Amino acid sequence: MPRLLRDGARRLGASSAAVWALDPRSGWIDVFEYDGARGHARTLTASELGVDSLIGREDLPTLVEPRLSVGEVEDDHTTPVVCGGQSLGVLAVAVEDGRELDELERQLVADLARHLGIALENARLYEQAIRDDLTGLYLKRHFLDRLHEEIDRARRYGKPMAVLMADLDHFKRVNDERGHLSGDRVLRELARLILASVRSSDIVGRFGGEEIALILPEQAAAGARRAAEKVRQAVEASQFPAADEGPPIEITLSLGVAVFPGDGDDVDALLSAADQALYEAKRQGRNRVCSGGPTA
Ligand code: GH3
Ligand code: MG
Ligand code: MG
Repeated sequence: MPRLLRDGARRLGASSAAVWALDPRSGWIDVFEYDGARGHARTLTASELGVDSLIGREDLPTLVEPRLSVGEVEDDHTTPVVCGGQSLGVLAVAVEDGRELDELERQLVADLARHLGIALENARLYEQAIRDDLTGLYLKRHFLDRLHEEIDRARRYGKPMAVLMADLDHFKRVNDERGHLSGDRVLRELARLILASVRSSDIVGRFGGEEIALILPEQAAAGARRAAEKVRQAVEASQFPAADEGPPIEITLSLGVAVFPGDGDDVDALLSAADQALYEAKRQGRNRVCSGGPTA
């Protein structure tokens, strides 16, 4: 996106350009800006936009247009970004003296908006293919691809890395006592909580039903245990809203930690060490973190 925007803006001789794109999964807005020299990307969350729920596509023009921050933007310098009849965002370009665009320039803006639309749609399809619908976390297949990459990287640079395997405690009871919809809601909230508790560079995947796996790049044993403990405490302290009228749901999480290369030096060995550590956490009474390796 930033490169398309930069190239388009340069061809137009625009002093700056920006595109606001709705992320249909989070309902947030991704902003890509080109300031005449370089590109920037940032995300506006629902609260930063002053709304308290997910944004729908139909709200996009009203939310976005009052926020144009790329200098003096005339009406005819703003173009909807559309793909397959769906509104995906808004493109704005600013020219130095705020003059009118001529016919050829307007054509260039329309072409740029079309290309941006295709790029956004491709990105959306890719995200859809690698993420779980319920939680938005990576699917197992993509998580394993990333794990292969991270292990290769750790081996090449002689760095540590860690894998966490997490499983909700007695989750079946939540389904049995509060219904499957409440269970789903707990899983969605759990994913959000975990993502908020770890670094943005950590990789989080839904491994199975209510089993969540994490890759912590460049973390050795002590840091990985700290991260796991932070997640455990966040879950323990949380009140998960239910789908029924009943009280919020309290639940705990068990985690197993395995560190490359000590606990395992390939994907299978590392996952199996994390699994064993998780099993050990369950065996010791749940709601705890156990580490893999011979000393566990
Ligand atoms: P343990 O402490 O031993 O982990 O007990 P548990 O009840 O959590 O046992 P286990 O991990 O084997 O059970 C997984 C349960 O998770 C089974 C199923 O009811 C529930 N589950 C798995 N996937 C989903 C899902 O997508 N939605 C809902 N609502 N429940 C799910
Ligand atoms: Mg469980
Ligand atoms: Mg399970």
